[in-house]
Amino acid sequence: MNALKLNKFHWHLTDDQGWRIESKLFPALCEKGAYRVEPDGSRHGGFYTQDEIREIVSYADDLGIEVIPEVDLPGHALAILAAYPHLACFPQDFCVPNSWGIFDDILCAGKDEVLDFLSQLLSEIAELFPSEYIHLGGDEAPKARWKACPNCQSRIRDLKLKNEEELQSWLFLKLAQGLAQQGKSVIGWDEILDGRIDKSLIVMVWRGDGKDAASKAAENSNSYILCPNQLCYFDWKASEDSPGAHGISTLANVYSLDPSSYSRPDLCLGAQANLWTEHIHNEAELEAMLLPRAFALAERLWNPNADYQGFLTRLNDLEGYLDTLS
Ligand SMILES: [Zn+2]
Repeated sequence: MNALKLNKFHWHLTDDQGWRIESKLFPALCEKGAYRVEPDGSRHGGFYTQDEIREIVSYADDLGIEVIPEVDLPGHALAILAAYPHLACFPQDFCVPNSWGIFDDILCAGKDEVLDFLSQLLSEIAELFPSEYIHLGGDEAPKARWKACPNCQSRIRDLKLKNEEELQSWLFLKLAQGLAQQGKSVIGWDEILDGRIDKSLIVMVWRGDGKDAASKAAENSNSYILCPNQLCYFDWKASEDSPGAHGISTLANVYSLDPSSYSRPDLCLGAQANLWTEHIHNEAELEAMLLPRAFALAERLWNPNADYQGFLTRLNDLEGYLDTLS
């Protein structure tokens, strides 16, 4: 990252399939939420201790890289619910899932104890990262449970909200206001545009080519970060027969990213690539998906007037240069 002048590391530390960061306030998050059991009975998982997190943050800082943590809420939270089931709308014995997908059980937005839990937990996590930013997710949160939950419904009535999307907006803003007291600005996936969005929130534009979400963010004067999945998802295949999932994003696709072609480029804070590791089995595979597409992203962002043919030539030199570093 340092060689490519990629200066922000967005660290997706939590998801349905695992909780990956030590909490001293809520130890069950790691005891239970960090491990899943495969169909053959084997146990997989693990987490970073707070000391390890500090070491990584400081190592990154030495290289000029800021680490931005993400705690994904209120969906993609089954690892939390496996540890603390009472935080769901309808508590039951939740498991950390060993399959991928979008799950209906999410954190309840109607219970005060969920707010207390999240504000304590986020404050503990925010403390570990000097970055002014923290990402709270907000993506892929089905509303089936909230529609049926008496607590969520009475929250909607009490606050005179229109629907469950507005309930999510309210929850997000409430957490963001708490974090603002620690000097943090909150980022969320572009679903946060679906309800009522406050100007203070930063939108991470990810769906499709990103044009729609960027225009909506621009209409509301929200700052945004670009990572449209058609171009910037490095878990997608780089070619028809290379490893990956979901779709194809070739080197040339990545190179076609043009932040100036989106609405209100003055609101664009930057761009990033996302490498989800669900279907990546080892480091060699990970590296093959990351490179050379990361080179293309870095050059587009730092040298937008350069051309693709020239890039292909420079790529050879860069690969030689990187070999000298390792
Ligand atoms: Zn609820």
